[in-house]
Amino acid sequence: MAYDPDNIFAKILRGEIPCVKVYEDAKTLAFMDVMPQASGHTLVIPKEAAENILDLSAEGLVAMMATTQKIAKAVKKGLAPDGMVLTQFNGPAAGQTVFHVHFHIIPRTDGAPLAPHGRSMVDAASLEPIAAKIRSAL
Ligand code: AMP
Repeated sequence: MAYDPDNIFAKILRGEIPCVKVYEDAKTLAFMDVMPQASGHTLVIPKEAAENILDLSAEGLVAMMATTQKIAKAVKKGLAPDGMVLTQFNGPAAGQTVFHVHFHIIPRTDGAPLAPHGRSMVDAASLEPIAAKIRSAL
């Protein structure tokens, strides 16, 4: 499948739709997931147009992973979860729903189940204070 330049993350990168931003540099962007599986669920995307991890250049991969680690450290420091899951899906059969490669950073709390993937949308205003805690821990 060819990269669709009108996928939702491409639109976020172009500033055509809003996101609750956590971090941005020349090659990557991190923002809050609007359908969080747990409080603090953050996404990291490369700016490079790549549908999945197989299509991403080595340089883009390095940038995405470096930012993923940076944000995961900030989530740990800012939100103090018991643990964190980092996930990345390739293809519809694997659960990918947005076809611009991304990493999920999902905080976990002992004994608390994960909400279903991409099921219920929350208000952007409720994500802002969580994003602020992550940003302040960067
Ligand atoms: P995946 O299923 O791995 O492709 O994950 C896509 C993720 O993007 C899901 O967790 C969605 O909740 C999330 N998502 C979809 N649209 C938006 C959006 N406009 N802003 C932030 N997150 C989004």
